[in-house]
Amino acid sequence: MGLAEITSRLRAAEARAGRAAGAVTLIAVSKLQPGARVAEVLRQGQRVFGENYVQEAAAKWPAWRAEFQGVKLHLIGPLQSNKAKAAVELFDAIHTLDRPSLADRLARLAEARGQCPEVFVQVNTGAEPQKAGVLPDALDRFVADCRALGLPLAGLMCIPPEAEDAAPHFAMLAAMAARNGLAGLSMGMSSDFEAAVAAGATHVRIGSAIFGPRT
Ligand SMILES: *Cc1c(COP(=O)(O)O)cnc(C)c1O
Repeated sequence: MGLAEITSRLRAAEARAGRAAGAVTLIAVSKLQPGARVAEVLRQGQRVFGENYVQEAAAKWPAWRAEFQGVKLHLIGPLQSNKAKAAVELFDAIHTLDRPSLADRLARLAEARGQCPEVFVQVNTGAEPQKAGVLPDALDRFVADCRALGLPLAGLMCIPPEAEDAAPHFAMLAAMAARNGLAGLSMGMSSDFEAAVAAGATHVRIGSAIFGPRT
C-alpha cells in the first residue's frame, strides 16, 4: 500500500465524516520495520511516527531526528515505570497510561522537567484479561485522579478485541472521552482506521499498511 495511498484513504475518510482535511493525525507505526523503509517514508515527508518499545526507539530515532526536521514520536506500546524517564525525554506523546503508579511517575517527571508529553489514557474497552488499559468502569475516576495530580491529559486510546467489530469499541471510547471533556481519540489501525475516523478519531496508528509486514 504505502504512505500515499493511506494518506489519500485517510483524507477520503475525513471527507465522508464531514471533518476537515488533516483533522486526523496519521501516526506511522515504525516498530520492528527495516530502517530503509522508515527512511523512505521520512523522505516522502511523513513526520509523525509511533514506536512500541522505548529502547528500540532510543536506538533508532536520534540519528533520524538530526537528519529530518520536525519529527514527532508517539509511544504506543506499554510503558514500564522504570522506563518512564527515558520515555518522557524521547517521546512527544504517550498513548499508554494505564495505571495510577505510572500516572504518579509521569506527573512527577513532568513537574521536574517543566513540560509534559501529550498523554492519552489507554482504555481496555473489551475488558480483555490479557490486555493493558483502564477498565471502562474505572475510567472516570482514573481521569479525575490524573487531573488531581496535575497531569494534563490529551485523550483516550484503545485497541479493540481482535475478533470483534471495532466500531462499537470506537463509539464507546468517543463517549467516554466526551463525558470526561477530553478531545483526543487515538484509535484505528491498518485494518480499521476508516471506521475509527467515522467515529471521531483524532489520531490513527497505522503500521503494516504503510510499511509492509514487520520483520
Ligand atoms: C503495532 C501497533 C499498531 C499498528 O498496527 P498495524 O496493524 O500494523 O497498523 C497500532 N497500534 C498499536 C498499539 C500497535 O501496537
